[in-house]
Amino acid sequence: MSAALACAACGRRFPVGSPLVQCPCSGLLEVVQKPRRGAGALRAAFDRRRVSDRVGQGSGVWRFRELLLPGGGPIVTHPEGDTALYRRAALARFAGVEDLAVKHEGENPTGSFKDRGMTVAVTHAVRSGARAVACASTGNTSASMAAYAAQAGLPALVFVPAGKVAAGKLAQALAYGARTLLVRGDFDACLRLAREAAHAFGITLLNSVNPWRIEGQKTIVLEMLQQRGWDPPDWIVVPAGNLGNTAAFGKALREARDLGLIRRVPRLASIQAAGAAPFYRSFRVGFRRRFRVAADTVATAIRIGDPASYDRAVASIRETDGVVAAVTDREILEAKAAVDAAGIGCEPASAAAVAGARQLRRRGLIRRGQSVVAVLTGHLLKDPQTVMDFHLGRRRGANAPIEIAPTLAAVARVLKG
Ligand SMILES: *Cc1c(COP(=O)(O)O)cnc(C)c1O
Ligand SMILES: [Zn+2]
Repeated sequence: MSAALACAACGRRFPVGSPLVQCPCSGLLEVVQKPRRGAGALRAAFDRRRVSDRVGQGSGVWRFRELLLPGGGPIVTHPEGDTALYRRAALARFAGVEDLAVKHEGENPTGSFKDRGMTVAVTHAVRSGARAVACASTGNTSASMAAYAAQAGLPALVFVPAGKVAAGKLAQALAYGARTLLVRGDFDACLRLAREAAHAFGITLLNSVNPWRIEGQKTIVLEMLQQRGWDPPDWIVVPAGNLGNTAAFGKALREARDLGLIRRVPRLASIQAAGAAPFYRSFRVGFRRRFRVAADTVATAIRIGDPASYDRAVASIRETDGVVAAVTDREILEAKAAVDAAGIGCEPASAAAVAGARQLRRRGLIRRGQSVVAVLTGHLLKDPQTVMDFHLGRRRGANAPIEIAPTLAAVARVLKG
């Protein structure tokens, strides 16, 4: 296998064993590799490992190892991935998309897709001699990093925006033992600080600027394609914050097509929250300009004003004839209520994908009869406060609990009323 890390900005190349996560020129590094086996042999290996895989230990990430991290050695796996692809009539009706499936990345071990990138990035960190790991986070990256660092026995340092992290996520970072810093600033300030600290103190940065994170997150798409018998859907719809997934999905589709795993590339739709939509603004002007905004949205996981993977995400949208859309907080909460009521459940940012699919169908971009896979990025229990606020409020669809006296008569009154 020929493989290297390549800088998209200056063109320099580094060996894959390099501990670098960013080019010295501060450009983003990308993993370039070409597996020796052809599409048929790869598919056969991937399918075999779905049943049993001693090396990958049942992981839906390491099953695709020829396309991830070159070279052998120990892997830090939970395992992760192998998430369900659900079809629910009620949800399809809500979105107006008959052929809608949702891939629930909230079913990963720490409750979000971040585990897919983290298992690869922590494995690479261990193999390249990291002494400690750090990340900035809106919550899920820190939860995931803390768990994998604990498993690998590495000290973990977390930077999160004070007062802006959902309860479930902060609880995880603390419980898994990460040193957690509540930064008086937004996510973008946290990322700047984490980058500086990683550089100053020789700590390995595990944000999605780290190219190994992107490699792991490609498997959301690879696994979905495998679940569909390598028959791609017409559209893949994904929430978009720091744009790591948008970058990873484009790379996965490009590589799957070049290898011959698929013949046709689905269109990618990246969905931002209207209050945090710099990528959408750029899309509207044909990517002639990059925007930075002060972000605000109920979907804290995508509350990001200056996305780090901007350049790679632009390539993903261009190469897949993709689109970028924005949905309001109200649309996000309505979509979340629909996902929850279907018995699936997700955190607010995840629901942006379903709200986005609905909007694109209404605008006629998604045409009647087209197949759509929406990615639910995180678990319902990540953000219990938003759920309680919604159901204790007076909104349509609210399902408030009812306090009663401990008598049968009280139960009867409720059932009658
Ligand atoms: C991290 C995260 C996102 C945003 O993904 P990006 O790759 O940063 O665009 C969306 N939803 C959830 C639940 C997340 O944890
Ligand atoms: Zn460079």
